[in-house]
Amino acid sequence: MTLTILKTSAELQSWRNEQKSNQIHFVPTMGGLHLGHGQLIAAAKKSEDKSPPIVLVSIFINPLQFNNEEDYEKYPRNLLDDCNVAEKSGADAVWAPSFNDVFPGGEEAHFKINAPEKLQKSLCGAKRKGHFNGVATVIVRLLNLVKPSILFLGEKDWQQYIIIRQLIQDFNLPIKLKGISTFRDKNGLAFSSRNKHLNQVERVSAEALPKILEEAARIYKKKKLLNIKEIKSSLERKSLQVEYVEAVDKTSLNPIINSKSIFLLAAAVKCGKTRLIDHTFLMMRAPIVAIDGPAGAGKSTVTQAFAKSLGLIYLDTGAMYRAVTWLLQSRNIDLKNEKEIEKVLETVDLELKLDKSGMQTIIINKQDITDFIRSPKVTESVSIVAAHGCVRKKLTNQQKKFGKSGGLVAEGRDIGTAVFPDAELKIFLTASTQERARRRSLDLKKKGFTVPSLIELEKQIKTRDELDSNRDIAPLRKSNDAKEVITDGMNIDEVVETLIELFRIEIPQEVWSSN
Ligand code: C5P
Repeated sequence: MTLTILKTSAELQSWRNEQKSNQIHFVPTMGGLHLGHGQLIAAAKKSEDKSPPIVLVSIFINPLQFNNEEDYEKYPRNLLDDCNVAEKSGADAVWAPSFNDVFPGGEEAHFKINAPEKLQKSLCGAKRKGHFNGVATVIVRLLNLVKPSILFLGEKDWQQYIIIRQLIQDFNLPIKLKGISTFRDKNGLAFSSRNKHLNQVERVSAEALPKILEEAARIYKKKKLLNIKEIKSSLERKSLQVEYVEAVDKTSLNPIINSKSIFLLAAAVKCGKTRLIDHTFLMMRAPIVAIDGPAGAGKSTVTQAFAKSLGLIYLDTGAMYRAVTWLLQSRNIDLKNEKEIEKVLETVDLELKLDKSGMQTIIINKQDITDFIRSPKVTESVSIVAAHGCVRKKLTNQQKKFGKSGGLVAEGRDIGTAVFPDAELKIFLTASTQERARRRSLDLKKKGFTVPSLIELEKQIKTRDELDSNRDIAPLRKSNDAKEVITDGMNIDEVVETLIELFRIEIPQEVWSSN
């Protein structure tokens, strides 16, 4: 492969027009390419959207994002070395425009973007005033010129990643975003263009930064203890001058001291004259995904496939309510009599065998009833049983235990609101009643049950929705922080793909690839 080197925007446009594929995977950089960039480029080359991708790397040192002239002047510039790294890592083209190519007529001739204040007031944004406005302004220019299908960003600059993610959402840009884990050398130091400025002694000090953050993450996991003061002192003892050490929510970037969910511990230090940033994620457990939605929205099918593809344990909580309903029916218990039901629950032994292949076996009092709980008889009455406080209490407790160490995707009606309100990703999966009735009909046919008319199925679904949404305890509703996915007109693969996309956007790759 030979690398194409493009300079002007006109060259970029004519190269762009020559490409047969529209799948341009874009890696914007400021040059000084190192192995970390190499990883990003390699990930961009490997990641297939629909057809084999074409990877374009831009090299543009954006003066708008520097608030220190010296830092800008000192920024490494060596196009030949950069092209070598880009080519070795799999890039198809490098685009190194001049300032005038990106901002024809000068900076003053163009719109400027202000990144949201809320996302700038912590971490680097607080210390480098205007930095993220400069980043956002240039990224919009670059995206408009390149028109990529996917934008690849390193997670090392987490605040930048969050701000650009929001920019893509707010401006509704037709671009996917992929974050790639921070790449580190064998001593744990994150690759950075600025590492070139470190002398041997400083390098040893710099290596303390990731070690101290990792140690803090270990202590947090073990003892739920986070001592920012102590972290600062440890850094200073290693001759690192602390600019900030902050713990923030990984999405809102608001300060946070502890949480059941994953959050960010980030630091910026000066090592000699070189400014370094790094971070780690603090967590008590692996990520949890909550998928809620009404009957027949296709939750089970897609959640199973989603769990399998991400190696998460799959928990179908509806199956638990169905199992209890089956047991009560098999004992001829009056389903409205809560006292009777409570008595049965005292001795019930509900066992779920969960695995990462998406299979779930339901065993009640040692009997495998996995195949019985989907019958129309159970479906018809399960919402009445699920409304009882005693049933909800017992099953919710059991579900929480399954999720103790995370690494799980649970689906149901109240997962994001009651069972795992701290889930890292909440999805509300829904579809029109007509679509859900159509799917239910196909499902019943496949399982060999008698299939009622579509009108009748719609009626049954509406009744179940009403019972589930209007009960007193943990009713079906969309959690405020859930992402709604309306699946009308989408096939299973498309829905699964959408969920994976949401997962990858929400959960740092650094977190899910280490689980
Ligand atoms: O999802 P599925 O159709 O198997 O769920 C069966 C029923 O179990 C639902 O209609 C609802 O009444 C109940 N359920 C619940 N809370 C959950 C999951 C299911 O109340 N988390």
